Amino acid sequence: MPATILSGKEIAATIKNRVTEHLHAFKEQGITPNIAAIQVGDNPSSSIYLKAQRNHCLSVGISHQLQQIPADVSTETLAALIQRLNENPAIQGIILQMPLPAHLDASLFQSMISPVKDIEGVNPENIGKIIYGKARLAPCTALAATRLIEETGIDPYGKEMVIVGHSEIVGKPLALLWLNKFATLSVCHIATSQSGHLQSHVERAEILVVAVGKAHLIPGSWIREGAIVIDVGINRVHGTIIGDVEYETAKERASWITPVPGGVGPVTTAMLLHNIIEATKWQMSL
Ligand code: NAD
Repeated sequence: MPATILSGKEIAATIKNRVTEHLHAFKEQGITPNIAAIQVGDNPSSSIYLKAQRNHCLSVGISHQLQQIPADVSTETLAALIQRLNENPAIQGIILQMPLPAHLDASLFQSMISPVKDIEGVNPENIGKIIYGKARLAPCTALAATRLIEETGIDPYGKEMVIVGHSEIVGKPLALLWLNKFATLSVCHIATSQSGHLQSHVERAEILVVAVGKAHLIPGSWIREGAIVIDVGINRVHGTIIGDVEYETAKERASWITPVPGGVGPVTTAMLLHNIIEATKWQMSL
């Protein structure tokens, strides 16, 4: 039987409804969350992404201001800007858009963002808390993959979960989040492929998450019968967007699968709004 499609759009709408309820409650207390997004330079993909992000925020009544700064900004100047935003009580969330120019150390600036305003979940303090199962803010894409898997109702206890891709924003935090749920984790990456072991790992997966950025890296024939397949990858091929998993064949074997586009992407965007609510609640409790 073909897989049930995990519609990211529907799940995102549910998350957005909850966000709206919280925003109403905040409004009654005179609070409207305000986000500052910092863009260093003028990378066109970042500009498109930030415009969409701003529209999503505005659509639910969250203020969003873009701080565009020149690509040759110094470490001191960028650090001072982040510090000002950290100290500004009118700002509830800070986004530092990646990539940064080569002369700037991304992880240094991520560590400067106040943990309570870290709505992308990239500050080491927030990431570290994932280990203890105590994260209040975590990377949006890892949260989105989590939400999609939970939607299937699967009991993760002892399940074989394989994550392909070990980036800081997806694979690594996701692995920690699901270790806390007692899934049995394997994390694969480029070396797994190069040593010829990727297929045997993928074939074992009852829950498979792929976040690589290589079109159709995972053939449908590798998917275990009945697996849950979450495809994070976004690849533009001949003008269309496709995932890292060969969707048409994979959906004949999987029990649940995310489409690309329309799967992880919309839920990731909704999770940013969710994180803005969490950050605002956190600051209100201080
Ligand atoms: P990244 O480049 O930081 O990491 C890629 C990972 O893939 C690394 O762990 C690398 O070792 C691994 N890898 C590379 N080639 C491989 C191979 N042949 N076999 C196995 N592993 C291999 O990527 P990222 O930022 O985590 O993004 C991954 C993909 O997810 C991209 O397509 C990106 O556009 C997409 N993405 C989507 C969303 C969303 O909201 N849908 C959000 C973030 C990222």
